[in-house]
Amino acid sequence: MGYLLEKQPLRYCLECGEPIAYGGRPDRKFCSCGCRNSYHNKNYREERIIKHRINAALNKNHDVLSRLLRMGVTSMSLPDLAQMGFVPEYITSFSRKGGRTECRCYDIKYYLTPTRIFSLGRNIIL
Ligand SMILES: [Zn+2]
Repeated sequence: MGYLLEKQPLRYCLECGEPIAYGGRPDRKFCSCGCRNSYHNKNYREERIIKHRINAALNKNHDVLSRLLRMGVTSMSLPDLAQMGFVPEYITSFSRKGGRTECRCYDIKYYLTPTRIFSLGRNIIL
């Protein structure tokens, strides 16, 4: 075994650049848990921020649409929606139906035109 260990190329920690001690998995990339965590935190920070912003925008849109449904509103202009914090670019899906664009934000659906939304309603997806 000693011979095999000597033949392994020396590996260096992706975070701190220090040599990685032999032992453990042969494909280790970090010298310690701290270095592994630090590396991943840095590299996925931007991704986490983007995902957080998208989720926050989707939640805000869903809150606005839910509020409208509770008030019995099924149609509204995009400028009025924008004043409520609604951002039409954030949807969970859309489809073209009979020349119309049907958008969904989670369980709420509506048709979108360049100036307004209409036929707002719940669409239970299981
Ligand atoms: Zn390290």
